[in-house]
Amino acid sequence: MTDAAFRELRLDGVGRRFGDTDALVGLDLTIRQGEFIALLGPSGCGKSTALNCLAGLLPLTAGSIWQDDRRIDVLPPERRGFGMVFQNYALFPHLTVRRNIEFGLQMRRLPKADVVRRTAAAVALVHLEEHAGKLPGQLSGGQQQRVAIARAVVLEPSLVLMDEPLSNLDAKLRLEMRTEIRRLHQSLGLTTVYVTHDQEEALSMADRLVVLRAGRVQQIGTAEELHARPRTWHVADFMGFRNLFPASVVEVSAERVVVDAGGLRFAGVPAEPVTVGDWVAVGVRPEDLLVVPDGAAAADGASSAGSAGSAGVLTATVSVVEYQGREFAVEVRTTAGLRLHVRTPARLVPGDGVTLRVEADRLLVFPGGDHLPPATAPLGENTGDGGGAGSGPDVVDVRGRGSALVPQETP
Ligand code: ATP
Repeated sequence: MTDAAFRELRLDGVGRRFGDTDALVGLDLTIRQGEFIALLGPSGCGKSTALNCLAGLLPLTAGSIWQDDRRIDVLPPERRGFGMVFQNYALFPHLTVRRNIEFGLQMRRLPKADVVRRTAAAVALVHLEEHAGKLPGQLSGGQQQRVAIARAVVLEPSLVLMDEPLSNLDAKLRLEMRTEIRRLHQSLGLTTVYVTHDQEEALSMADRLVVLRAGRVQQIGTAEELHARPRTWHVADFMGFRNLFPASVVEVSAERVVVDAGGLRFAGVPAEPVTVGDWVAVGVRPEDLLVVPDGAAAADGASSAGSAGSAGVLTATVSVVEYQGREFAVEVRTTAGLRLHVRTPARLVPGDGVTLRVEADRLLVFPGGDHLPPATAPLGENTGDGGGAGSGPDVVDVRGRGSALVPQETP
């Protein structure tokens, strides 16, 4: 438990402008004591700005921040009592691990015995006993980041702020440190706000995620909520909906909509209310595009026409196959050039013709199909692989190219 615990920390309409740039707009968020919150979003979405506003390193240009009933955005960083861990560990290079960790305690003029005891406990927490006498330059990246974490938590801060702390580490260390940070968070009863652009990291560590885009909150929720029901296609993009393509709404019923993507019809679930004629973004995860075994397609009544409640079916040709352990990551193209990603245990080879099926409840329909990134526009050209999570702020208006995007497929 920390010495300056609070019940909740409330961000009330927090905003930050830099000249003409709105880096953060109207952030409303209540962080409960003991929560692990991840701020997630692509580069430039305002994550670090939000964290720095919380830390007191950046003054707000709108809103306020409250720790229970105490307004804290007016306080300088050192009076907020928060711990910070940055991407570049920012250790003192001429001090040993032990002295780096005890530095903050000494600044607080604690009795020597307390400094020694708390430092030893922090060193042990991050498993650096063997390295306590070394200089940072003699440590690996992961070990240095452990020192930075120990230095922050030794002060028993009421809130720990972490800005992409693992991004300089290799993949294996990142995985180890994720578990380590989560373990520390739990065992010390910390409250943590963690900035990352890595959705896997955020999903695996956080109690709740705040997805930002262009300075604005897209959605706040638990990993399960965001994973199952992303509210916008931007959130879906981060939550593994690697297939995002434009379509128009042709039918709306109680819980289903039918969309038309250049003649292919799919039934799906609307993430937000839509009406007939809306230009929408359709999202499907690669693992939800099911390969229909030969012969089963006809029995299944495969056709490109769907109606509310039915599954959508399409045919395509395999273009790329990547072996990924138990499964294959397969890229296919429809005859219209729509590029789709499929995860399947089926052994396919480039050039194979496949029939794919998607269940209606696995196909989400989002408003705003006219702002999908260019890589989702199936014009037959090789658009590269920029359509995945965090593919950047570039968007194209594809509405005018509607019928050309996914031309009528011959049934
Ligand atoms: P990254 O993951 O790349 O660190 P981020 O999501 O943390 O990105 P921020 O650093 O918060 O993004 O930046 C948000 C926006 O504010 C960006 O458009 C950025 O260019 C702008 N910005 C940030 N700091 C400043 C500054 N000191 N002066 C002017 N503009 C800034």
